[in-house]
Amino acid sequence: LGRLRGKLSKSRSAFGQSLVGLLGAGDLDEDSWEEVEDTLLVADLGAATTTEIVTQLREELHTRGVRSSEQARAVLREVLIKALHPELERSVRALPHEVDGSKRPAVVLIAGVNGTGKTTTTGKLARVLVGQDHKVVLGAADTFRAAAADQLQTWSERVGAEVVRGKEGADPASVAFDAVKRGTDAGVDAVLVDTAGRLHTKTGLMDELGKVKRVVEKQARVDEVLLVLDATTGQNGLMQARVFGEVVDVTGIVLTKLDGTAKGGIVFQVQRELGVPVKLVGLGEGPDDLAPFEPEAFVDALLE
Ligand code: GDP
Repeated sequence: LGRLRGKLSKSRSAFGQSLVGLLGAGDLDEDSWEEVEDTLLVADLGAATTTEIVTQLREELHTRGVRSSEQARAVLREVLIKALHPELERSVRALPHEVDGSKRPAVVLIAGVNGTGKTTTTGKLARVLVGQDHKVVLGAADTFRAAAADQLQTWSERVGAEVVRGKEGADPASVAFDAVKRGTDAGVDAVLVDTAGRLHTKTGLMDELGKVKRVVEKQARVDEVLLVLDATTGQNGLMQARVFGEVVDVTGIVLTKLDGTAKGGIVFQVQRELGVPVKLVGLGEGPDDLAPFEPEAFVDALLE
């Protein structure tokens, strides 16, 4: 928790600590409620979630007759956790035995717009799996960004995973297909495919990512489609989420760069927008800066 708190320090001071301060002992005037609302909006929780949270806070503080700052903080904690839907399933289906007990590799497609941290996330996730003694093949299907395959190769060497890459400009779907084939032949546990992330036109993206998925599905099941979103991009990230959500069935969200932003409230909004759980968060550029997203730990790191 200490580490998470450090990584989230910007959101913690701008959002968590401000709220704790504003709520005080729970006896707020209208001006203070407006400030609570502003704090939530500035932290990127979005209008709908903000209204929902403020309504619940007012109700709970009132009906419970809260009179101490400790009680007020406990109510705040409860309301924020609830807004993050702790009941959602958040485990990443990157291991076949966790999916259906079979020996085939789990197939994970990692999608997102370039620059969001897709390749880095792929590498970090591989590191987690290899660290648990699982064998991993990486597919460098981001063939449009020349450096992406090299970057993934570096990650593969760093973490001890095999990488399958195509020639520059190769069809992403064929690279993805080859990676899954290689993983199946080699009997590995997981194949992680770093897909191309051009968002020049919606149709282009739809064709590309849809094709990757269709082609992979000719020989294997796709267990997880992770959408990588950059937490610092606010409304832009939400727009991307919407577009991707229309193209493929996203099964989980990875929110990156939470370490560099005071707008950690985007977690609330993006989940609401896509109706898909945030499963992982990126907390830095280092190989160990990927963490499972746990609503309770997240809220505690913001408030404590
Ligand atoms: P891609 O184009 O989506 O594959 O993006 P990259 O994986 O190349 O990442 C783009 C930049 O974001 C790189 O400089 C990464 O080191 C950085 N990055 C990725 N994830 C995080 C994160 O969680 N926190 C921070 N601070 N930087 C990140």
